[in-house]
Amino acid sequence: MSTAIGSSAVPAGRVLALTGGVGGAKLARGLAGVLKKQQLTIAANTADDFDYWGLRICPDLDSVMYALADLNDDQRGWGVKDETWRTLIAMRRLGGDEWFQIGDQDAATHIFRTQMLASGASLAEVTGKLCRGLGIAAILLPMTESRVATRVKTDRGDLEFQEYFVRDQCEPAVRGLSFDGIDSARLHPDIVELLESDNLSAIVICPSNPFVSIDPILSLPRCRELLKAAKAPVIAVSPIIAGRAVKGPAAKMMRELAMPATATAVAHYYGDLLDGYVLDELDAEHAEDVAALGLEVCVAPTVMTSVASKVSLAEIVLDFAAGISLRN
Ligand code: GDP
Repeated sequence: MSTAIGSSAVPAGRVLALTGGVGGAKLARGLAGVLKKQQLTIAANTADDFDYWGLRICPDLDSVMYALADLNDDQRGWGVKDETWRTLIAMRRLGGDEWFQIGDQDAATHIFRTQMLASGASLAEVTGKLCRGLGIAAILLPMTESRVATRVKTDRGDLEFQEYFVRDQCEPAVRGLSFDGIDSARLHPDIVELLESDNLSAIVICPSNPFVSIDPILSLPRCRELLKAAKAPVIAVSPIIAGRAVKGPAAKMMRELAMPATATAVAHYYGDLLDGYVLDELDAEHAEDVAALGLEVCVAPTVMTSVASKVSLAEIVLDFAAGISLRN
């Protein structure tokens, strides 16, 4: 086990981060602060994507984009800072849907995306253009160009993901999850190329919800085998700290899915995919159990509340990966 002290190892090769929205976006922002331009590729979950107000909404891509551009609202935990809500108020006046809240600046993102998709651009092209517009140097990719949609089986029936997550505020008890369209979907070819490349130094599974943010990516055909065959170590950062999620339903879902809500259970869930696991310092007593799973363990402060804490965790994760590479 290593207890992280932090240094500033910028690896020689490229880094791939797998992420959902808010939690993952924080570490993605940290990695972007450490790595050189274009050294970082972020593959984001798109199984939460949906249509609303006639617009294509990609919540995880947007959370990552706003975080990378330092435009994210840290207080609210989602969306753009200094946001205004005139469009939403006008929509309410017209009797339109308002259960999913779209701010005025955020609306521009969705209109831009919807328009470009309608004119034939791919989601990766649109995302690249949005990132350039926001001055983002890292490469942000959707996990796939195919349409995949998470469905949540609950004690109140089958729900679409955003109905469960936003409209019903994660209150229904989860009985199971499925990803419509996953079998015929393809991991984005640029992600496949990176996973097969000799120039990959680390693969980081960000502290995102394992079931609804990371699982859709891992469930894409060939994804797990490509991760296992990749030359770089696969490191995950626990999204569970002292039995709780920092934000969102991950711990509640674990209990509902008959799993202990612990950091170790997440490591166990990812299984033999991982080479290393980062536990929060509040979970140091789990280190032995995680090591017993055959993983290298790093104990570190993982709560990211500022850009400095995001960058510091990113440095720790990259150092940890470099140490694993050296030993293997
Ligand atoms: P979503 O798609 O917006 O739900 O976001 P993610 O799936 O990327 O992130 C949700 C997960 O991030 C939750 O399980 C949180 O516990 C975790 N999370 C959020 N902030 C932090 C943090 O600062 N540190 C760690 N370790 N986990 C975090």
